[in-house]
Amino acid sequence: MGNCLCCAQKRPRHRQQQTFIGLNPGLEGKLNNILEQNPRYTPDPQRSHADIIRTKHTPTRNNQISKTRIVVAVYDYKERDVSDVSFKKGDRMEVIDDSDGDWLNVIHLTTGEQGFIPGNFVAPELSVESEDWFFENVSRKEADKLLLAEENARGTFLVRPSEHNPHGYSLSVKDWEEMRGYHVKHYKIKPLDNGGFYISTNKTFLTLSELVQAYSRNAFGLCHVLSKPCPKPQPQMWDLGPAFRDDWEIPRDEIKLIKRLGRGNFGEVYYGKWRDSIEVAVKTLREGTMSTAAFLQEAAIMKKFRHKRLVALYAVCSKEEPIYIVQEYMSKGSLLDFLRKDEGKTLDFEDLIYVAFQVASGMEYLETKQLIHRDLAARNVLIGENNIAKICDFGLARVIEDNEYCPKQGSRFPVKWTAPEAIVYGRFSIKSDVWSYGILLMELFTFGQVPYPGMHGREVIEQVEKGYRMPKPTSHYLPDDIYKIMLSCWDNKPENRPTFEFLTHYFEGFNVTSEIPYRRSLIKTIPRKLGYETKTIQKHETEYF
Ligand code: AMP
Repeated sequence: MGNCLCCAQKRPRHRQQQTFIGLNPGLEGKLNNILEQNPRYTPDPQRSHADIIRTKHTPTRNNQISKTRIVVAVYDYKERDVSDVSFKKGDRMEVIDDSDGDWLNVIHLTTGEQGFIPGNFVAPELSVESEDWFFENVSRKEADKLLLAEENARGTFLVRPSEHNPHGYSLSVKDWEEMRGYHVKHYKIKPLDNGGFYISTNKTFLTLSELVQAYSRNAFGLCHVLSKPCPKPQPQMWDLGPAFRDDWEIPRDEIKLIKRLGRGNFGEVYYGKWRDSIEVAVKTLREGTMSTAAFLQEAAIMKKFRHKRLVALYAVCSKEEPIYIVQEYMSKGSLLDFLRKDEGKTLDFEDLIYVAFQVASGMEYLETKQLIHRDLAARNVLIGENNIAKICDFGLARVIEDNEYCPKQGSRFPVKWTAPEAIVYGRFSIKSDVWSYGILLMELFTFGQVPYPGMHGREVIEQVEKGYRMPKPTSHYLPDDIYKIMLSCWDNKPENRPTFEFLTHYFEGFNVTSEIPYRRSLIKTIPRKLGYETKTIQKHETEYF
């Protein structure tokens, strides 16, 4: 849903990924531009951030700016630091520097304040991205999930870029039918050669807005007239504030540890607040778990990896022991605990597929960045509102110095999740992560059962070496196709295992309705009316009209 200005017109679907990765020239130049004589923030625990000279009330126009660009706020945002600016949905701002993909330097056109704002909270004025109903970077599966939220009535809708047609869009509408209950219908919005759009050839429109307005007045053959735009979830924040994008060592006294959440590989984990306002999760690193230098090196890599299926690393406090790792807070905790507790136990098959898809998608991103996780498991996936799943602790296993975490002798080494070549020869690769993903799938579809139940680590190593693989569970519903996917993840030869790209597409296109036996007989065809094509809903079929 990010809307950075520099490429707003191009509207590539994965723009956020391209913009965000590690190429930030640094905040220093930009801060110096506006902070002029004032010292840049340095991670000095003795000095509070409030000491940084306030500049946003003394705007100075940047001479480099050649043309005026106005953005409009799509969400509310409350300032977090001295260098950023608060705004409300609908506020207009003039961009004076957009060279940082994440933080734009703007002048607020009502308050006159100058400072940074998160680029993914705003969109160019009058652009399609500024419309409440337009959802960028949302897949069909995610659209289903958002629209099916209980509070949304029939006719709630959104428009998103098409996954199949680079110039087209899809209209997703929540519908209800006696036989199916609530479900989502997806319509293709096709572009016309000379500009304009249509769903049905007999009704063409110059703009997407006109199309939406027309179908909001009359269904014209859609399942339902468009009623209300789907509520947009808050965009992801990647940093605590603009000053912390590159300087993310923060004073420890700005963090308040409020509640212990659990104990992980590295030490205690707490729910806390930064500056008494922003919710965060704080991992405290047990002394001796890893060297500070190695950790900071790894954390610097993690900080640059930004994907909506990876838990954001906000900041660290590494000046004293124990080191704090300050992360995005995920309200429902680890996937493993979630699956075993009341709420997780009630997840339906579709929810499980959605989690499988999200984890594969986060791992696909790591695959493209050639980063190996090394400890992918349900305990290292976190769950937030609406069953959003994100992977955490990627890369950290590499720097653990603890003997207990050593492949050969450590009692805490995750033998049951680790590929044989990684256990025996230490050959970790993205393909050993694929093996672990297969184990995670088994955890998921058995609602958090320990893998290889009843077997000890050593036995698992020996049996797996001889070709033994976990059997298809009899206690839980698991389609043969998904069990086959698990077996392919556990292929002895790493090169024969699927890629995460494949796994993402597999679970994204997985049609739950054609899988669940009791529903199968109910959904065979879509009735032909007003130009709808009659089609059987099959796997991978996403849009029709
Ligand atoms: P870990 O060190 O990742 O194994 O974390 C231990 C426990 O702390 C997990 O099982 C979660 O319940 C919780 N936890 C870790 N990170 C977070 C987070 N970012 N948000 C919420 N809970 C977390």
